[in-house]
Amino acid sequence: MKTSLYVFSLLMLIACKEGNSQLIQNPTVLQNTAGKVQKTDAEWKQLLTQAQYEVIRNKGTERAFTGKYWDHHEKGTYTCAACGNPLFSSDTKFESGTGWPSYFAPIRADAVAIEKDNSYGMQRIEVHCAKCDGHLGHVFDDGPQPTGLRYCINSISLGFIKK
Ligand code: FE
Repeated sequence: MKTSLYVFSLLMLIACKEGNSQLIQNPTVLQNTAGKVQKTDAEWKQLLTQAQYEVIRNKGTERAFTGKYWDHHEKGTYTCAACGNPLFSSDTKFESGTGWPSYFAPIRADAVAIEKDNSYGMQRIEVHCAKCDGHLGHVFDDGPQPTGLRYCINSISLGFIKK
């Protein structure tokens, strides 16, 4: 599974590089097609609560078992709290016992993006919203089948739309 994560990272890296060259050639078109949400730090501060800002923009972590969704079992779609991008389906949510909402896959492969995170002396893979780059949590390779992945997500980074 580590190999597949590595391959995925590599693909993402290639995708990003292609994106960058496109950006240089035609910035307006890329912004429109990618549908990215870009705001200044001041705008995010105004839009988000202080607690949301701390996690979503400063890559903080909410305390385990304190969030809104770790023990939430309704059917529906989990969205990005910052930009509304659909991120995870309740169909992929599972009981991880960690105190954070956990999913074995995003709702679409391009809904989230990942990046290496070596903070706090740990080697982890950070997960963020592909649309607004807001921090969501981390992905680990000890999840259930069919993917074997565990997307460990902060509740505060999520919204929920009931089915
Ligand atoms: Fe977002």
